[in-house]
Amino acid sequence: MLRPVAVIGAGPFGLSSAAHLRARGIPVRVFGEPMVSWRAHMPAGMLLKSTPAATSIDAPQPGHTLADYCDAAGTPRLVEDDDIIPIETFIAYGQWFQQQLVPDLERVRVVSVDRRGGAGSASGSASGGFELKLSSGELFTARAVVVATGLSGLAHLPPELAGAARDGPSPAGPVSHTSQHSDLGRFSGKDLMVVGAGQSALETAVLAAEAGARVRVITRGHGSVGFGAPPWEQPRFRPGSPFGRAWSLWALSYYPHAYRYLPAQLRHYLVRHVLGPLGAWWLRDRFEGRAEVVEVERIVRAEAPDRRPVLTVRTADGATRRLDADHVIAGTGYRVDVAAMDFLSPELRTELAVSRGTPRLGAGFRSSVPGLYFTGLPAAASYGPVMRFVCGTEFASPRLARHLAASGR
Ligand SMILES: Cc1cc2nc3c(=O)[nH]c(=O)nc-3n(C[C@H](O)[C@H](O)[C@H](O)COP(=O)(O)OP(=O)(O)OC[C@H]3O[C@@H](n4cnc5c(N)ncnc54)[C@H](O)[C@@H]3O)c2cc1C
Repeated sequence: MLRPVAVIGAGPFGLSSAAHLRARGIPVRVFGEPMVSWRAHMPAGMLLKSTPAATSIDAPQPGHTLADYCDAAGTPRLVEDDDIIPIETFIAYGQWFQQQLVPDLERVRVVSVDRRGGAGSASGSASGGFELKLSSGELFTARAVVVATGLSGLAHLPPELAGAARDGPSPAGPVSHTSQHSDLGRFSGKDLMVVGAGQSALETAVLAAEAGARVRVITRGHGSVGFGAPPWEQPRFRPGSPFGRAWSLWALSYYPHAYRYLPAQLRHYLVRHVLGPLGAWWLRDRFEGRAEVVEVERIVRAEAPDRRPVLTVRTADGATRRLDADHVIAGTGYRVDVAAMDFLSPELRTELAVSRGTPRLGAGFRSSVPGLYFTGLPAAASYGPVMRFVCGTEFASPRLARHLAASGR
């Protein structure tokens, strides 16, 4: 019997990849907790920044869009650009998608992935396969592996905050990361500092303030807190894209093919800055007047005497200030780093061709290791910022499945 393809991850990218592989008749085993990044690592009450048109998980057959889910669930259809999607709706949609198209998902963790036969057994062809160990204790062989582990393990804490988080970021310690909070109600009545100016930082600040926290947002540079334009103020004579009307967004959304031929420096720059730190248009009214903004040139250091965080910051006029609070939340995003993907054997991680810690991918989302594929966030440095978002599944999943189908013949 043909050995299966293993898909590691049951978020939007893993589920979509699995659905496409299955539709091509490729045997597949899929591992992970369905939609866990959304259930456990984002705040309850969050609203999605993406519009309904940009928030469907790509499926090989019709009938599985966000609007289809709304119809099936008997809830109002979310289709217009100014329909805002509650996180709870998106989680339910993802779980429905999983039950429909990936019903035999295995809710276990992949503990390790190695070349079949271990280090040094590389045959140089995709047929050598991989040995996977699961948290259930099972060992099995896959002919190929798709890594769709998304945000897991990639939360980024800048070094200047590390001094106040010596044991690592933690909601119970002086400093945590936005990914560690699903209930911001715990900060009611507390003084909170949120570091960052992206949607995640700003929405965390708003939800904590609405729950009764006194919130300051610490951002770098003058005028660094900004919000996008609402749909009715988008420029009319520019092409539309899932992210708004602009030539650049249109090219990045519909032509990710060419992205990997751009110079490495430009690719990494665009991934971090296109659709970068900016609040959603609908967050502005809720933000203003609720959270104080402290603009700094940089955070010099963070300490936690008596477990209470103190940030030393340099301001634009060269002065130094000390800011303290009951807790600091770093809204400082995620950084892809193959070295942090500890389920991949050290040999595989060493062998992978990387660019600034991200796997270098070729056609069909394959890595430099035959049979090993990456999709979602780890693919963004190769296929562009669209891979950071759910709508990236539309480009990624059919191509990845096609490549795997061809390589299995
Ligand atoms: C606060 C916040 C708001 C966001 N808002 C939006 C938005 O509005 N619109 C949008 O398009 N995108 C948004 N994003 C980006 C969004 O998170 C990604 O687009 C999407 O979740 C990526 O899906 P994924 O499948 O790649 O990974 P994830 O959703 O992160 O799923 C990872 C999966 O991998 C599994 N996994 C990890 N390690 C293992 C292992 N060793 N073994 C087995 N399984 C494993 C997990 O169980 C999980 O199932 C937001 C992100 C954040 C942080």
